[in-house]
Amino acid sequence: MSANLETEHNQRDKGTVDKMNDYQDFNSFKSLLKLQGIIKNLTQTHVGGSSLEMGIGENSVFKQNIGGIDLPVIPGTSLKGVLRTEAEKLVGNGNSCEPPNTSNMCKEDNYCPVCGIFGGNSLASHVKVLDLIPTEDDVPTSQKPGVAIHRVLGVAYPGAKYEIEVIEPENEYFFDMFVENIKFNFEEKLSADKNDIRSKIILYLLKKMALNQISVGGKTSGGLGVLKLSELTATYYTKVEGEFEPKEEKYTVTFNDDINEFEVKKNSS
Ligand SMILES: [Zn+2]
Repeated sequence: MSANLETEHNQRDKGTVDKMNDYQDFNSFKSLLKLQGIIKNLTQTHVGGSSLEMGIGENSVFKQNIGGIDLPVIPGTSLKGVLRTEAEKLVGNGNSCEPPNTSNMCKEDNYCPVCGIFGGNSLASHVKVLDLIPTEDDVPTSQKPGVAIHRVLGVAYPGAKYEIEVIEPENEYFFDMFVENIKFNFEEKLSADKNDIRSKIILYLLKKMALNQISVGGKTSGGLGVLKLSELTATYYTKVEGEFEPKEEKYTVTFNDDINEFEVKKNSS
């Protein structure tokens, strides 16, 4: 490549990052990051009934029939929703739109980085979080007493005691997350691509999960649903020019004290 062409190429690459509508890039494969690990619930966890605040109706935890057994499952959409909220907090007011009301969300051709990760109006999600399935077929739950709070007034209903089903702490789940067409660097350390803010946001979210700072489900303000991510491996597929088969590299990811740093060890295949 001539010097001129190379400059033009670099500028074009930079340009694609600044232009938000280029988050609509599902027509061609550029990269896929497959993240797999183990998530443990450190505290009692309730993901389930929608009427939890009222203390009435469906108060059992969400379950799926797996191999003939009804097991508590943490829906991938629940975790994804929490991660989106954390991403919005990270980028700050005015730098992201305000779901869930679609009229407060980004419009076509001008998407915020959070929509660029999790999707939005007419924009598919660049990340997929699979349902978190327990690693064991015995997941103990118990009934936890609570007080029904009036959704609008925020006060307890007189005598409105109720129970919710919670998953007991220290159960492990398989964590599987896929990130499409968002660039990362795997040179010595796993790091964000400096031209794509979205990679930085995703690494921040992984770190928060590793540091027990992400909670799912109901009553999280009461300490429920604290998750811990560990044993993370990353498989990174990138498109090599002129090749049909993507290049595949596997890594073990280790979290260290710096929120922005991840040690990676390349696995021999
Ligand atoms: Zn947005």
